[in-house]
Amino acid sequence: MRVRKRKGAEEHLENNPQYVVLKPEEAKGRWQDVFGNEQPIHIEVGSGKGSFITGMAAKNPHINYIGIDIQRSVLSYALDKVLESDLPNIKLLLVDGSSLTNYFADGEIDLLYLNFSDPWPKTRHEKRRLTYKTFLETYEQILPEEGQIHFKTDNRGLFEYSLASLSQYGMVLNQVWLDLHASDYEGNVMTEYERKFSNKGQVIYRLEAQFPKK
Ligand code: SAH
Repeated sequence: MRVRKRKGAEEHLENNPQYVVLKPEEAKGRWQDVFGNEQPIHIEVGSGKGSFITGMAAKNPHINYIGIDIQRSVLSYALDKVLESDLPNIKLLLVDGSSLTNYFADGEIDLLYLNFSDPWPKTRHEKRRLTYKTFLETYEQILPEEGQIHFKTDNRGLFEYSLASLSQYGMVLNQVWLDLHASDYEGNVMTEYERKFSNKGQVIYRLEAQFPKK
């Protein structure tokens, strides 16, 4: 997601500590305290402007959500949505998906979403793809045994790559959709990119995959 640098983004994030967790390393192992309840925690890595995470939080009040992005300006737009929706079960984090073990204890996260991750089509950039094996190792550590990843994209190349990468890692593909919007999948919550690309007539791919027993 490319956005222009937003003036005041940093202050905007800093002024809203009830939603933006500014020192996430201090929350490691105590996220339930941060939320003030014992609900399951689901995260989206690369949450963009936050349509999905706020939509999910509104729909599922019994689950806590954390939206994670590395771009300050992008996260500040997500914060606008979070402020508007005013929900108790959502937090935002400005961190890199490769460093999640600094912020979450083993098994602390119940489910991990990836939506419309940057495709990095060049082979020399493979390691940056959010479904590359080093990212999978990170996700596996913070998820419970047999934890799940749910992934959506319009990008056929990234989807093909991810199917191979996940299965080479030993993950089980529980379900695969080659055209999500034409399927009978119910309750889909759209992301910004999903809306944009499906409006252009592109199909949306989806998968649910599960890590092996530890
Ligand atoms: N999920 C949103 C945004 C997709 S764009 C949607 O579907 O509309 C991909 C997002 O991932 C961008 O906002 C980008 O900043 C973020 N991103 C890319 N690499 C990341 C990483 N290593 N860690 C966290 N976020 C990342």
